[in-house]
Amino acid sequence: MTAHHVPADLPEHIRHYIGGAPADSVSGATFEVLDPVTNQPYLTASAGQAEDVDLAVAAAKEAFDHGPWPKMLPRQRARVLNKIADLVESRDARLSELETFDTGLPITQALGQAQRAAENFRFFADLIVAQADDAYKVPGRQVNYVNRKPVGVAGLITPWNTPFMLESWKLAPALAAGCTVVLKPAEFTPLSASLWADIFREAGLPDGVFNLVNGLGEEAGDALVKHPDVRLISFTGETTTGETIFRNCAPGLKGMSMELGGKSPAVVFADADFEAALDSTLFGVFSLNGERCTAGSRILVERSIYDEFCARYAERARNIVVGDPHDPATEVGALVHPEHFDKVMSYVEIGKTEGRLLTGGGRPEGLDTGNYVAPTVFADVKPDARIFQEEIFGPVVAITPFDSDEEALELANNVKYGLAAYVWTTDLTRGHLFAQGIEAGMVWLNSHNVRDLRTPFGGVKASGLGHEGGYRSIDFYTEQQAVHITLGDVHTARFGAGKDKV
Ligand code: NAD
Repeated sequence: MTAHHVPADLPEHIRHYIGGAPADSVSGATFEVLDPVTNQPYLTASAGQAEDVDLAVAAAKEAFDHGPWPKMLPRQRARVLNKIADLVESRDARLSELETFDTGLPITQALGQAQRAAENFRFFADLIVAQADDAYKVPGRQVNYVNRKPVGVAGLITPWNTPFMLESWKLAPALAAGCTVVLKPAEFTPLSASLWADIFREAGLPDGVFNLVNGLGEEAGDALVKHPDVRLISFTGETTTGETIFRNCAPGLKGMSMELGGKSPAVVFADADFEAALDSTLFGVFSLNGERCTAGSRILVERSIYDEFCARYAERARNIVVGDPHDPATEVGALVHPEHFDKVMSYVEIGKTEGRLLTGGGRPEGLDTGNYVAPTVFADVKPDARIFQEEIFGPVVAITPFDSDEEALELANNVKYGLAAYVWTTDLTRGHLFAQGIEAGMVWLNSHNVRDLRTPFGGVKASGLGHEGGYRSIDFYTEQQAVHITLGDVHTARFGAGKDKV
């Protein structure tokens, strides 16, 4: 294994960013951030409390009420967004280096995520310029049109898996729409988020449009959700956190978008392209360390190819290169944090009592420290097993056989989640029927997770509420005001006009 790479010029401390300037917490409170390879603290971050969120929201509100951003022409905003994309792209090597160090994600995959972040800004720059709104006419009587307006201050709360990319996913449409924002990044991984402030300033985003408060979810996140001047919350994270935020948004009747957990099925029929399905189902759960909301973490395989599939799958999983996240040869890096490592390891132990362990089952050989988990494959997993039902969010997969299309569909839908699904078959009719029967927000047929940015993104059941993606994101960050204009005479019942009524 190569020596652990520590990026040059790491900051020792990172601060909030409020109204165009870095800021420490009013209380001076900080928290420590760990390097997932050594589990040693390597920097402190300001720990935001309610008073820091108040300052950030006040800056965002001032920029919304009195600043130029919400009133700028879409083309002007698009220019800034495109500059942001250029800057992100030109810094992708540094960005992925820092992201990898902070999250433990393999460097090649972190680089792909940085490029995707740039792409999100370009996409929403294009979309906002091309935005058209509805108009309706009643010939000779009325014209009605939609006047789209940014909602106001948006609260953006993001998780620690692929943090920079997921932040871009919310920042790009919110800014394109003309909102001002307060971002609360995940406390495990605040490093890459600290790069946004310089990128935005250099791209010409006016002060106060983007604000960032670091801190714990229960403190900074909670204060942001409850702040009366925050008009909407876009949240990505765990289902249970989503439920808490949902409750806390109720008193303010805030707009909400929730991207939550998953336990997505990959269904492999006997007529599938076996090799393509094998490659995809391996990548689907072991890429991004398995810390992926859309991971195909349950593989359902038709009985006639089950034994061969399990054998080939285990052989490949055994060969996956686990190692230092900065090594370009690494396929699975270190999990983000020792708490998460303990959670994943506890599921590995549970799995040993619930399924047949084909490979993995603990630490990889030679990696005695750091949050490394060997790619772990369990076969013969029953649908009531915890490793079949619960989101593990690590490099652990459950394989289950099926005998008929009906049984496969029942197994696929037999969990509380409904984020993604993957179906492998060469039978066109079966593929479409099956895809449409699956309770999932997104289905990939004979493909792994490749998403066109115009398509809806979101889950059903416990996996989310609302769909972002494409123009739906713009819908979320804007109000659609209906303006009705009468043409010609107004015909109104003449209340109070007595006998002169007609
Ligand atoms: P988490 O729910 O623990 O935390 C997410 C964010 O919410 C963090 O910034 C956290 O500080 C904040 N938070 C926590 N409690 C809060 C509260 N009471 N009020 C306001 N904010 C609060 O999730 P995580 O462990 O960081 O991320 C992993 C989860 O995210 C997994 O369940 C994964 O499936 C999900 N996820 C979903 C998607 C999707 O698009 N559906 C994408 C990525 C991750």
